[in-house]
Amino acid sequence: MYKHRVFITEDQIQARLVALAEQLDRDYAGRTLNIVCILKGAAVFVADLIRLLHIPVILHFLKVSSYTDGAESSGTVHLHFSSVTDLEARHVLVIEDILDTGITMDYLIKHMTATKPASLRYCVLLDKPERRKIDIRPDYVGFEIADYFVIGYGLDYNELGRNLRYIAILEE
Ligand code: 5GP
Ligand code: MG
Repeated sequence: MYKHRVFITEDQIQARLVALAEQLDRDYAGRTLNIVCILKGAAVFVADLIRLLHIPVILHFLKVSSYTDGAESSGTVHLHFSSVTDLEARHVLVIEDILDTGITMDYLIKHMTATKPASLRYCVLLDKPERRKIDIRPDYVGFEIADYFVIGYGLDYNELGRNLRYIAILEE
């Protein structure tokens, strides 16, 4: 594994998830929630979060990638896989691992709006507002963080680190 230092502990993540789940249970009371998990990064977060929810949940998966030009996102987002069906007139919550420039989320907003849901909201585990290029404000945020490259709890560096139980900052 790459050298890293713990940034957000397992206990801090779990405590935040309990609060987020309570908020979602309240906001979607009496409704069925269609969750769209954005692969691969959000898989761990979504798996833990849905087991804290009491409202009925339908789970969908979508895989997108934004091609990078050096360190910066090129702005071109590609859809690789979708299990999304029948979202028309449904309540939809898109869940992402991390909101950085906003380019991926901007694409997802357009893509999901076309499915004509009754409501559409966005939840991210981590938000790096300093890095934003497109003005997007998620409806639910796990943790707001400064401009660090983080791994763990679903997030990778060259595909490794997703299975860490905490969120860590990569060290040289
Ligand atoms: P955006 O399109 O908002 O610039 O980028 C979102 C995507 O970039 C995330 O879904 C994630 O895949 C990747 N990303 C952005 N910041 C980080 C980070 O700190 N760590 C990891 N592992 N991925 C990141
Ligand atoms: Mg991602």
